[in-house]
Amino acid sequence: MNELQLDRILDHCRRLGLMHVHTGLSETLRRAETESWGHLQLLDHLLEEEIASRESRRIKNALKLAAFPFLKTLDAFDFAFQPSLDKARVMDLAALTFLQRKENVLLLGPPGVGKTHLAIALAVRACQHGASVYFTSLDSMIRALSAADASGKLAHKLKSFTTKSQLLVIDEVGYLPLNRAEANYLFQVVAARYERSSLILTSNKAVSEWPDLFGDHALATAILDRILHHAQVFSIKGNSYRLRERLSAATMAADSAAEAALVEPAAPSQNRGPSSRLLSDQTAVV
Ligand code: ADP
Ligand code: MG
Repeated sequence: MNELQLDRILDHCRRLGLMHVHTGLSETLRRAETESWGHLQLLDHLLEEEIASRESRRIKNALKLAAFPFLKTLDAFDFAFQPSLDKARVMDLAALTFLQRKENVLLLGPPGVGKTHLAIALAVRACQHGASVYFTSLDSMIRALSAADASGKLAHKLKSFTTKSQLLVIDEVGYLPLNRAEANYLFQVVAARYERSSLILTSNKAVSEWPDLFGDHALATAILDRILHHAQVFSIKGNSYRLRERLSAATMAADSAAEAALVEPAAPSQNRGPSSRLLSDQTAVV
């Protein structure tokens, strides 16, 4: 291939937006020659690399737009720690048919049981499979809508929580009570998405407690009615994973302190043998 031809191909790649092919073309051509690739193999390789690079850029962008506070995966979730949670049901969600069916997912349970972890892990999967996703806590969504309302931009702001994402994660429902106006913002979001696009909600409160949190029972019923009509509800009844981590760290610290005390040589001036030290350790533990 002469230089002129190569320049023309590079220019075409640029104009077609095949930037990955453009960047790696010389290297790929060298490899193709060394490894005696046929024409089809070369073309196949170039197109596949271009698609893979676009796909990874798309996923990166989708994850950025989703505004996750951190990234979590289902692989990193220890289902053995939460026996009340049906792993098969959660893995069914990972197939994302709930998104196609415009169903909602409710993850309920006390703090630390992994509600946000699971919500993010499912939403990350949705990003990977081409869905537009947005993550918010209920509190920050209400604050954003309330501020927009105050400046006459409610309709515009509502769109970022309704039509702009195929999946909206609303985290931490129930941490703070809502007044009537605030509950009304939530109603508008839920009503606009009803049977059109999915929600994942997490809450530390049982659904039966929501009416008291939303200030207005009629409004709460209207919200719940729409959320629960097509929803999969998961009530996680286990222990806090955060506490487990802290407890095991504390246990490990206590164990190594006890171990250090046992191997520490006796101070001659104190005239206490190892057995008396062991006794005092035991007393301290009791
Ligand atoms: P919640 O939202 O229910 O309060 P989080 O999802 O924030 O709890 O979990 C707290 C921390 O513990 C996070 O770092 C999360 O990744 C981790 N975690 C919770 N449950 C599990 C689990 N079963 N396996 C692995 N990590 C977990
Ligand atoms: Mg949480």
